[in-house]
Amino acid sequence: MRVFKFGGASVKDADAIRNVAAILEGYKNEKLVVVISAMGKTTNGLEAVTNAYYDQTGEATALFEAIKDELLATAAELFEVVPEALKEDLAGIFTKIEEWVNEHHRVPFNFIYDQIVSAGELLSTTLISHFLSSKGIANQWLDIRKYIKTDNTYREGQVNWSLTTANVQAGFIPVLEKQLIVTQGFLGGTVENFTTTLGREGSDYTAAILSNALNADSMTVWKDVPAILNADPRVIKDTIPIPRLSYYEAVEMTYYGAKVIHPKTIKPLQNKNIPLHVRSFIDTAEVGTTIHGDETRDLLPTIIVFDRDQLLLSISSKDFSFMAEDNLAHIYQLFAKYRIKTNLSQNGAISFKACIDYKPNRIKELLIDLLKDYNLQTTANVEIVTLRHYTPTSVKLYTKGRDVLMTQKGRDTVQMVVKA
Ligand code: ASP
Ligand code: MG
Repeated sequence: MRVFKFGGASVKDADAIRNVAAILEGYKNEKLVVVISAMGKTTNGLEAVTNAYYDQTGEATALFEAIKDELLATAAELFEVVPEALKEDLAGIFTKIEEWVNEHHRVPFNFIYDQIVSAGELLSTTLISHFLSSKGIANQWLDIRKYIKTDNTYREGQVNWSLTTANVQAGFIPVLEKQLIVTQGFLGGTVENFTTTLGREGSDYTAAILSNALNADSMTVWKDVPAILNADPRVIKDTIPIPRLSYYEAVEMTYYGAKVIHPKTIKPLQNKNIPLHVRSFIDTAEVGTTIHGDETRDLLPTIIVFDRDQLLLSISSKDFSFMAEDNLAHIYQLFAKYRIKTNLSQNGAISFKACIDYKPNRIKELLIDLLKDYNLQTTANVEIVTLRHYTPTSVKLYTKGRDVLMTQKGRDTVQMVVKA
C-alpha cells in the first residue's frame, strides 16, 4: 500500500481539487491513504482568527466568516448541486469552531490555536472526500485525531508511537481492503480527545507516521516543483533537479532550512526503509525525486540553502570568565526551555554565538533570561547561507560583495552567516 500527501497549494481552489481527483483516478483500485492539508493559505487565515479571538479584537467572527464563504464558494464551483450531506458535514465543523470563537474561554493560547486552526484540514478533507465520491472514486473519510495520538504539547504534539501504530493498524487496514482513505494532515488528538497540531507544515510528517505504522511500500508528496531542486527556485534562477537523494542527505537539507519537506518526515520512513517520492502535481510526467536508503552514493550538485530572518546572538560572560561547559550548559538549557532552536552556533573563549529564527514574540523571554546572567549583543537582518557539496567557485559566488559575520566549514558543508 502507499501513502500520498497533497499540500495546500495542490488543493488551493476548485481547479486544483479537480486536478487532484484526476491524479487519484489513476490509483483508485490500489490500497491508498491520501493525506491532505488545508486549502491554500487557510491555515494562515485561521491563525488570524485565533489571534483575533485571543486578543479579543472583535474581528474573529468576521475573519472566520470570510474563510467559510471562500470554502462554500469552492464547493459551489465543484458541484452543480452541493450535496446535502456535504453541507451538513461542513456545518458541523463550522459550528464547533464558532462555539470556540463566540465564547471566551480562559485557556492557554496554544490550546485554543489547535482547536481553531485544525478546522482547515477538517474542511478541506471533507470537501474533497465528497468531491471524489461524486467522481466515482470511492473513499472513506477518517478523522485522524482518533488515530494519531499525541501528548498535550499544543502546536507541537509529540506522537505516542505505540498507541498511534496500534490505532492506525486497527482502523486503517480493514478500510483499505475496500477503498481508499482520505484523512487530514497536521492534526492529532490527545487521549482526552482534544485536538493537537504537529507543527506548521506538519502534513508531510502525518503521511510519514501513517507510512511507518502501515509499513507502506512508498510515500509520495505531490508538490508544485518538478522534483527536489538544489536550491529554492524562487530565489535562484538556474536550479538543478535531483533525481535521487539518500535519507541522510535529505535530513541534512531540511536541517539547514531547505523547505522541501518537513524535517520530521524522514526518520519514520528511514526506520522502515520506505522510499519517499516527491512528484509534481502540475506535470505528472516529471520523474521527480526519490529519497532512499540505498548504500549507493548519488552524485549531487552543490545544494544551496538560505535560512533567512535570523538573529545573531553574541553571548558573553559579565565578568570576563570563560564560556566553559557550565555556562554553555546553562545557555542551552534556556534554549531548550523556550523551545528555541539554534540554527548555527560557535564558541570562543569568552563568547558564544548562535543564530536563531527572528520571531520577536517567541524569543522575548529567552532574551530577558539571558540578560540576567550574560552580556548580550544581537544582530538582526542576517541570513545563513549553507552550501552542501560546496566548491571553491560556489563559495566565492555566494559571498561576493557580502559581509560575512561567521563561517563554519566541514568537509561537505560550509555555512556562512551574512548580512541580509
Ligand atoms: N496546513 C498546515 C500548514 O499550513 C499543515 C501543512 O500544510 O502541512 O502549516
Ligand atoms: Mg501548507
